Amino acid sequence: MKVLILGAGVVGVSSAWYLSRAGHEVTVIERQSAAGLETSFANGGQISVSHAEPWSNPHAPKRALSWMGREDAPLLFRLRWDPALFDWSWRFLRECTPGRTRANIGDIVRLALYSRDELGILREETGIQNDHLQRGILHVYTDQKEFEAAIEASRIMREFGCERYPVDADKCVEIEPALRASRPILVGGDYTAADESGDAAVFTRNLAGFCRERGVMFRYDATVERLSASGGRIDGAHVNSVTGCETLRADAYVLALGSYTPLLLRPLGIRLPVYPAKGYSATVPLSDDSVAPTVAMTDDGHKLVFSRLGQRLRIAGTAEFNGYNTELNEVRCQALMLRTHQLFPELRPAGETEFWCGLRPSTPSNVPFIGRAKLNNLYLNTGHGTLGWTMACGSGKALADIVSGRTPGIRLRGA
Ligand SMILES: Cc1cc2nc3c(=O)[nH]c(=O)nc-3n(C[C@H](O)[C@H](O)[C@H](O)COP(=O)(O)OP(=O)(O)OC[C@H]3O[C@@H](n4cnc5c(N)ncnc54)[C@H](O)[C@@H]3O)c2cc1C
Repeated sequence: MKVLILGAGVVGVSSAWYLSRAGHEVTVIERQSAAGLETSFANGGQISVSHAEPWSNPHAPKRALSWMGREDAPLLFRLRWDPALFDWSWRFLRECTPGRTRANIGDIVRLALYSRDELGILREETGIQNDHLQRGILHVYTDQKEFEAAIEASRIMREFGCERYPVDADKCVEIEPALRASRPILVGGDYTAADESGDAAVFTRNLAGFCRERGVMFRYDATVERLSASGGRIDGAHVNSVTGCETLRADAYVLALGSYTPLLLRPLGIRLPVYPAKGYSATVPLSDDSVAPTVAMTDDGHKLVFSRLGQRLRIAGTAEFNGYNTELNEVRCQALMLRTHQLFPELRPAGETEFWCGLRPSTPSNVPFIGRAKLNNLYLNTGHGTLGWTMACGSGKALADIVSGRTPGIRLRGA
């Protein structure tokens, strides 16, 4: 089959890899000049099954309200007239019950475990390099209430197969000695030995290279303006590039446009509850005498993650609901660094810190949409929110199975 994939982020490129291996003739359309330059560019770098608790959980409404109006808030809803945000927020609130949270954790853990395994297989087969480290992920807490709340989420994750176990503050320092200076403020943590870290953008670029070797065609600097449909099928993608406007046709169309997916679906009468959740990252080049972690870490209370990528430390996180705005906010950038210096006071940068922000394609439940949409030959692979890198390989494999008419190796549901 001829398959057109729209979007060359980590999800689109992973889909291309598995669709090509399933024997399809694949073309990828991307508006940027290369793969992985938007949300997949400088994310937290974690392959974190242990990060399966969605933002929509029983504690979220109270926390979000208490942070309202604070420019440095870990989770910030900016009040603005935006019907898509109102609709999304209402659905988000409905996902905050204990029952919905449990069901969502179950779906996220299953997909994330499947994906981590598929990533391992892909790595063995291709030898792909991306500064990856298999040292586990350590969650740390400096607030007793946050720590206690996390114990319940970890327990649910263990039920679904994620081996995330509580550890005391001393054990946190034993697992990651770079925490020694901040030992007095730690109240505890938990550790997931099988989780990993690695640079998602480098992975995406290198996987695009392996795809090309298999005959996948990449069309960069090409923007998809709209899709046209007739007879219950998509009959063309209208693309604008330096060579002009053209209509590309295929047997199947896969939308992997991240936060922008709903914008192309709306004219077709399909409403998809995916909303951009803006997050920030800082990448610090490290000097040889820096005391910086090599074990990937999550600071749940501040919604931050830390990953060691070679001689760089990536700090990422926080979320802001403010439409498609991608301006860097200085206060939010500095909030990242303030917390980093609290946890790692002996971090010695070897150069300028690079700040970045990206739009997570978020569903109210953090469960992505993978599978066929309302039209016969239209497929979605989007809405991976906080875990697009973690879930990319499993999502790509499952999508390729669905497009090929096979039952995926994992049970999926819409968000
Ligand atoms: C601060 C931050 C930290 C994060 N940390 C982690 C983490 O540690 N672990 C983890 O698993 N996940 C993390 N994530 C989430 C992860 O980065 C995303 O879920 C993932 O990158 C989404 O990938 P994607 O391919 O769906 O979207 P994207 O990477 O955004 O790809 C979509 C592509 O579509 C293209 N596109 C859009 N519209 C058009 C158009 N009209 N025509 C042509 N092309 C178009 C874009 O240019 C883009 O390249 C983080 C995200 C952020 C923001």
